Amino acid sequence: MRVAVITDVHANLPALEAVLEAAEAAGVEETWCLGDVVGYGVEPDACADLVRERCDVCLVGNHDLAVLGALDISSFSEAAAVAVEWTRENVGESTLEFLRTLEPSGEQEGIGLFHASPRDPVWEYVLSREQANAGMDSHPSRIGLIGHSHVALFFNRPEGEETGGTRGGQAGDGALLDLSRGGWLVNPGSVGQPRDGDPRAAWLELDTEAETACFHRVPYEIAMAADPIAAAGLPQRLADRLHIGQ
Ligand code: ZN
Repeated sequence: MRVAVITDVHANLPALEAVLEAAEAAGVEETWCLGDVVGYGVEPDACADLVRERCDVCLVGNHDLAVLGALDISSFSEAAAVAVEWTRENVGESTLEFLRTLEPSGEQEGIGLFHASPRDPVWEYVLSREQANAGMDSHPSRIGLIGHSHVALFFNRPEGEETGGTRGGQAGDGALLDLSRGGWLVNPGSVGQPRDGDPRAAWLELDTEAETACFHRVPYEIAMAADPIAAAGLPQRLADRLHIGQ
């Protein structure tokens, strides 16, 4: 089965629409979302409606939980906390009801799904080999899909190796992974607020039978997402960062 894996939408509707259109054109059969549907952007309800309608599975992320009041935001950055408060004041009840039904981890086709990391599905950023090894040790699936860092990347541990052989790195548009051997953690990158230097919206095309994954980036009209952020009174930095992908 061919699956579009998306994550960290962050209420960016133009980016979400661009990614879903590209995934549909690629002929995927399912779409899995790893969470953080809301927070940062100004269209939480439209994004939640689209995710609910188009995704076969959706996890809850730390920003979603914060908006629900289920997570303490004292450790959020100031801009992130301001965005959580804004979203709480501007989100509809049906979006909150939808987010309340979601879990931060799951499994599809024997593949582990985690918003953040396997050992801490809500909070931990997986950016180092040590974190990747710990993550692979803490869940039984050979392949895990993660979000949260907003960086398109992969980690691979060869079969039979406990730690030393793990390799990983960032993955650009068109990078293709052969997932057929060893342990894997793969992050598609963020739909709505990329932080890996490429401002285009990110998604991952997963083929569960061929055991391959291909990273994709999709251009979209960034000003359509960024300008309303500043106009809504949210921190200018949240608008600016969309243009540079950081
Ligand atoms: Zn996020």
